[in-house]
Amino acid sequence: MSDAIFVLNAGSSSLKFSVYGLADQDLSVVAHGEIEGLGASAHFKAKDQHGQTLADMSLGDSTRSFGHAEAFAHLAHWTYEHFAAELVPRAVGHRVVHGGLTFSNPTLIDAAIMTTLEQLIPLVPLHQPHNLEAIKAVMRLWPDLPQVACFDTGFHRGRAQVTERFGLPDELFRRGARRWGFHGLSYEYIAGRLRRLAPDLSGGRVIVAHLGSGASLCAMRDGQSVDTTMSFSALDGLPMGTRCGTLDPSVILFLLRDGWSVDRIEDLLYKRSGLLGISGVSNDVRALLASDCPLAAEAIEFFVYRVIREIGSLTAALGGLDALVFTAGIGENSPLIRQQVCQGLTWLGVRIDPDANQRGNVCISPEGCIPSVWVIPTDEEAVIASHTLAIVRSPAARARWRTRSPGGAPPLTLPFRPTDRRVPSDPQVLADDCLTRRIAEADVSGTLPALEPCGSVDDVVLRKTMASER
Ligand code: ADP
Repeated sequence: MSDAIFVLNAGSSSLKFSVYGLADQDLSVVAHGEIEGLGASAHFKAKDQHGQTLADMSLGDSTRSFGHAEAFAHLAHWTYEHFAAELVPRAVGHRVVHGGLTFSNPTLIDAAIMTTLEQLIPLVPLHQPHNLEAIKAVMRLWPDLPQVACFDTGFHRGRAQVTERFGLPDELFRRGARRWGFHGLSYEYIAGRLRRLAPDLSGGRVIVAHLGSGASLCAMRDGQSVDTTMSFSALDGLPMGTRCGTLDPSVILFLLRDGWSVDRIEDLLYKRSGLLGISGVSNDVRALLASDCPLAAEAIEFFVYRVIREIGSLTAALGGLDALVFTAGIGENSPLIRQQVCQGLTWLGVRIDPDANQRGNVCISPEGCIPSVWVIPTDEEAVIASHTLAIVRSPAARARWRTRSPGGAPPLTLPFRPTDRRVPSDPQVLADDCLTRRIAEADVSGTLPALEPCGSVDDVVLRKTMASER
């Protein structure tokens, strides 16, 4: 048996997950996937570390809504079925979009912290509630499992105040109308990778282009965020798959005066703008590049233009540029977009080797060229998993769990201590029935049925082990 860390990334209609096993102090993915279509027709997909499909199935039925709670219950059940003999869940790490001024660093979640995170909902009403919903879903099913929140805003905290301001009254700045910045977990991962790949560069002036469905740039010096293109929300900066990017606020006033509701404007800015809005064809760069529609070409031209322009702006913020890094879906996979962006930066001395770019080498600029240009796949889940592990091993977390269960073992072995140690005559059957019943009875809006005598999912896992060890 090895310890397992779950990583959850809850969006409005999806729950992405990764399960990491801990072997020889190293975390490695054993499964990852997504439950998409939450609230409508949910679909579950999971793959192993080699990309082999482990599950691909529709979930729920049309008579019951299938939300985050059901999604996590399904995931727990599925994980149990597949990995009960190998893995013991030890903690869950969550991507939480907003940490506000209070949270820069990953944080062990408790009731007080949930209250503070809930107070941040007005800043990110479209994202934070789903993140918190996933935390609550885990609490209901595995109340004693340590959970850790890792914040997308965290990496950008500590920047110079001048980079955080809008030209608005100070009172609004203090109330939260500030340029927070997002994609922080991705930038943290890239900063760490760069430290290992090119130690001499990590202390330099670097711009990371996270170009995925959501897109932003981050200017870093010494591996720390100096400035970034997303600001108060994930709408600002670069145009994205369906989001508008930087917009003159007067456009909103114009629409409001034209009778548009707030919801309609929100839908426009988040879901019907960007590459999709301009092209009317798709939000996916692959589809746009394959299309012969003139507006598809114009959408790509606009995207590339804005990336180039913002890199120029961030280069000024850094006072020069030593390296440019491409990451995320478009940045990692599209040699054409990389080539077009770099073409527009020749004035900065940016050059790439066409073959290296085509192959997607880690470094795609000619040797010795400054700024150098890199392609580094991002991995936000790995950042969350390693923070989660570090936190549950920290003395503070261990002390907290010792207080909750006096006399118990330290947290990495404690949270799943069974409440009932009797091993049933047919533990396999009882365990399966018990888990199925608990998940079926889980009251989405409230409590789970009592754990006794069957115990929690983890008891079930432990019972299975005890039985198999006999
Ligand atoms: P997110 O994590 O924000 O959902 P990703 O980083 O996975 O997004 O990026 C998804 C996007 O990457 C797709 O919408 C698509 O536009 C782009 N993408 C993926 N593969 C390619 C490719 N081979 N060429 C061009 N664009 C690609």
